[in-house]
Amino acid sequence: MRFSGLRVLREGLTGNKGWAPHWRDAEPKAEYDAIIIGGGGHGLSTAYYLAKEHGLTNIAVLEKGYLGGGNVGRNTTIVRANYFLQGNSEFYSHSLKLWEGLEEDLNYNVMHSQRGLINLFHSDGQRDAFARRGNSMINQGDDAVLLDRDGVRKHLPYLDFDNVRFPIYGGLLHPRGGTARHDAVAWGYARGASDRGVDLIQQCEVTGIDIENGQVRGVQTTRGAIKAKKVGIVVAGRSGQVAAMAGMRLPIESHVLQAFVTEGLKPCIDHVVSFGMGHFYISQSDKGGLVFGGDLDFYASYASRGNLPMAEHVMEAGMTLMPMIGKAKVLRSWGGIMDMTPDGSPIIDKTDTKGLFIDCGWCYGGFKAVPGSGFSFAHLMATGNHHASASKFRLDRFRTGVDLMDEEGTGSQHNLH
Ligand SMILES: Cc1cc2nc3c(=O)[nH]c(=O)nc-3n(C[C@H](O)[C@H](O)[C@H](O)COP(=O)(O)OP(=O)(O)OC[C@H]3O[C@@H](n4cnc5c(N)ncnc54)[C@H](O)[C@@H]3O)c2cc1C
Repeated sequence: MRFSGLRVLREGLTGNKGWAPHWRDAEPKAEYDAIIIGGGGHGLSTAYYLAKEHGLTNIAVLEKGYLGGGNVGRNTTIVRANYFLQGNSEFYSHSLKLWEGLEEDLNYNVMHSQRGLINLFHSDGQRDAFARRGNSMINQGDDAVLLDRDGVRKHLPYLDFDNVRFPIYGGLLHPRGGTARHDAVAWGYARGASDRGVDLIQQCEVTGIDIENGQVRGVQTTRGAIKAKKVGIVVAGRSGQVAAMAGMRLPIESHVLQAFVTEGLKPCIDHVVSFGMGHFYISQSDKGGLVFGGDLDFYASYASRGNLPMAEHVMEAGMTLMPMIGKAKVLRSWGGIMDMTPDGSPIIDKTDTKGLFIDCGWCYGGFKAVPGSGFSFAHLMATGNHHASASKFRLDRFRTGVDLMDEEGTGSQHNLH
């Protein structure tokens, strides 16, 4: 079924009776060429690119809940390519290029909106750091514009520029940054994968990984054993637990990250605004809600809900930056489980078990990575070689200390990244 404006019109005029389900609800087979554990953004995009780019279609995605019920449907939807360090920089640049062709590729409206992202700075030192980051982004082939105070005022007149603690000195504008509709991304990839023959199996929790003589043989699930020649672990906040089924201890801690949304308002914020000093960022959804968040809750947890101290901190930061926000009513808040690595950068690699691969460690930035991660993880699973854009995301950097990508310079404490 192809989507088009004409189709919407025709369905609208004929009682919307012609829409088909987006994907087949498949039953597990006894054996697959490859199994992807985890039906989040990264798992679904991996399956899609395995089928599309590598012609592998005897694949299953096993999801313990429902597709898109994890972080891919819980994030604040920001898409950007403004990383500084080599390794990250080329990966996110590649991912953003995939985003820019995604709707046509999937024939699905993921509502990708390149409305521009502005990172604010509040001191001379911070200005230097952002100028350096902007130069690195331009060298990578992405876009960046350093704005002075008046430049920011033109875009964001509603900010408090003279706050005593955080006066606004300027900002780094990344015009191609923006947002996308998070669950549409999961649904679009699910539909694309299913159309190419991938089995998407929901309510199917992986409870064990079968390994014989150092080679993966398949998985144990709540719906029985399934054999596979290759298995990819793509379970975000549950990475430590699932990797433990294969005897691995990952350099990952799982932490809660919260987000908040207000009642729907008329359009008032038409960029993504990031206030790093106060740990606050915000954008406005197409439904009108102000979507915002801040930092981790600062304790390791597998609960997808947060606590009040961080909620209070985020609200205070919002009020500091844009006092007008105090008039909006918060509608709801939620949390997700973040797979935090010690250097804040991800892992896409083989493991010591033959045929077993892992894609994890996305911290709180893995939504924008969904296309790039799926593309490069599929490349690794299909060919055995790292894709050039993700060649630095090696697991052994945490053992050797070589090629760590500590984007924020905060050292090896998981919750600080
Ligand atoms: C509040 C919040 C805000 C965020 N904001 C942004 C943002 O603005 N921009 C950005 O780039 N990133 C953001 N992120 C991060 C981003 O959402 C994640 O990094 C990314 O979604 C993780 O990858 P995923 O989509 O594959 O994860 P998930 O959607 O969590 O997928 C993993 C799946 O694995 C399944 N699973 C786990 N264990 C098993 C098992 N044993 N068997 C079978 N299935 C299993 C889970 O049920 C889950 O569906 C945010 C996250 C949160 C929580």
